[in-house]
Amino acid sequence: MIRFESVSKVYDDGTRAVDGLSFDVPAGSLLALVGPSGCGKTTSLRMINRLIDATSGTIALDDIDVLSTDRVALRRKIGYVIQHAGLFPHRTVVDNVAALPRLLGGDRKATRTRALELLELVGLDERFAHRYPWQLSGGQQQRVGVARALATDPPYLLMDEPFSAVDPIVRAQLQDEFLRLQAEIGKTIVMVTHDIDEALKLGDRVAVLRTGGVLAQLGTPLELLTAPVDDFVADFIGGARGYRALGFAGLAGDAALAPESPIRMGETATEGWTIVVDDAGRPRGWVEGGTATADALLTTARFLPRTASLRDLLDGALAAPAGRVGVVDERGVLVGSLTAAAVLSAERAA
Ligand code: ADP
Ligand code: MG
Repeated sequence: MIRFESVSKVYDDGTRAVDGLSFDVPAGSLLALVGPSGCGKTTSLRMINRLIDATSGTIALDDIDVLSTDRVALRRKIGYVIQHAGLFPHRTVVDNVAALPRLLGGDRKATRTRALELLELVGLDERFAHRYPWQLSGGQQQRVGVARALATDPPYLLMDEPFSAVDPIVRAQLQDEFLRLQAEIGKTIVMVTHDIDEALKLGDRVAVLRTGGVLAQLGTPLELLTAPVDDFVADFIGGARGYRALGFAGLAGDAALAPESPIRMGETATEGWTIVVDDAGRPRGWVEGGTATADALLTTARFLPRTASLRDLLDGALAAPAGRVGVVDERGVLVGSLTAAAVLSAERAA
């Protein structure tokens, strides 16, 4: 766990960059620090690995004050990923990843083997290992940066705008990959970003800072989206908040589901849109009145699991010719349907 207790930083010129910051990052979770440029995000991050020392307050890793930990020992425990990856330009990719473990006395062969494994973990196969950083795309360099930060298998990871320097499509891809990676490695992470969408997507919890390094609000993405504490947070999160919040919530139960009367292939629907199921009760498509023949069957509408996000359910309902989306259980068996209105008024679970 990472704990900030009333941490402040005043630079020599009198700039108050961080002011009385307190929060916890539970083990294995990711806290996204988000806020406008100059609000003290980078300063906060660099006080954790002591690239900057706090003016007052305490930062503790697993209840041990970072000030009482030797800087080298500290950085072995804390991986650090920065924008533009910050790779050594004159070293190959594999040497970049192996550099720190080597410096710490690791055996040459073992550190290289491990570096290759890490590169594979972040989606770079051996072809890339012997290139130089300039021979990689921005997104690939950023992946090497992540692999390098993981090289000493540190329990903590600090990431400062890790995906900001790449274009939006690559960024979304890196974010998705990173979510998968974190599900596997379960590091304790503080990630800094100015991008609220990135914070909401990657953060288990999100801390919104305002200028002057003051905490405006800390909460889960759903809490921030549904209950911003003030106008600053609401403005920062921006428009379409209600719609975006749906992406972070699911159905609280089956109460909102309307019952369906499905038919089998060859049977005849009385009127209106009717779901056609197989012998196990799994949906095959819809028919609009008439007999369920292969020709009449509409198979393009999606059926969604009851665990889908409300946003996906809403999209499903809006896109469906029938005006409602069919919902299935974990075995794929039809359990009911939802109209768009039913999705919007459904009881929510985070
Ligand atoms: P962010 O990462 O949120 O953009 P920073 O933590 O980099 O913000 O900076 C916070 C504030 O501290 C800014 O006003 C910045 O100009 C100031 N600052 C950063 N580094 C220094 C420094 N070395 N000396 C004086 N002021 C600094
Ligand atoms: Mg910064």
